[in-house]
Amino acid sequence: MTMKNNKNKKTADLSAKHFSRYGEFLVSFELSKYGWNVYDPVYDEYIDLIIHKHVCKKCGKNWNLTPALVCKKCGKDFSKTQKNKIIAKKVCLTCKNEMVGNKTKCTKCQSENLINRPSCDVCGGEIEMIEHSCSCGSKEYITKFRTIQVKSSRIEKEGGKSKNTYAVDMKPRDLIKDKHHFYIWCLIDDDDKPHFLVLSVMDFRKTMGDSLKGISFFKDQDRQHFSSKDFGKWKIYLNLFDKLE
Ligand SMILES: [Zn+2]
Ligand SMILES: [Zn+2]
Ligand SMILES: [Zn+2]
Repeated sequence: MTMKNNKNKKTADLSAKHFSRYGEFLVSFELSKYGWNVYDPVYDEYIDLIIHKHVCKKCGKNWNLTPALVCKKCGKDFSKTQKNKIIAKKVCLTCKNEMVGNKTKCTKCQSENLINRPSCDVCGGEIEMIEHSCSCGSKEYITKFRTIQVKSSRIEKEGGKSKNTYAVDMKPRDLIKDKHHFYIWCLIDDDDKPHFLVLSVMDFRKTMGDSLKGISFFKDQDRQHFSSKDFGKWKIYLNLFDKLE
């Protein structure tokens, strides 16, 4: 094989099986942008991803569950990039002498009764570990869990020619009756750019209307074909990641 053959490969070159996995990954990365942690179920039971996040109970902002390292005196935050600036201080409990570095004995009275005091490089204050609180002042958070089914589609082709449509297979077994269950349709256009439609099971039922009772849907033969230009009746769900909140 020459190098020339390996140039300009596109999503269209992926096998159907790999493409479906590819869609799940794209959806995972997109969900990460909205602060979701993404998990992959061991078995495929019509749920492709489990997602979860912690948010402030009051304002909904993403919550950090790991404690922060903050100076008691001046408030400097050492949690992220400043850890190496923390001064390792030892304090002698016998004579109150303060020493810097990894001492095992007091340099003044030789006592071995020393305690650690991680100290601030700016003001010398003690650094303590504090539980995260939101910038809105709230100290309470909530945990959200959602289940996601991903369906991916490339642009349909006929005789090598673009039909300018996507096709999504939906079956009765996909209609999991749970208000925490959602569909994300990952649609890849001819420039390999993904578009995401986010909808709840209720949204799907509503938009399908009477065709949900159609014979082809009951027989697992239904395919939603819609325009790749404007997503047809499904366009109202474009990038509706807020639905998951
Ligand atoms: Zn808040
Ligand atoms: Zn300080
Ligand atoms: Zn001492």
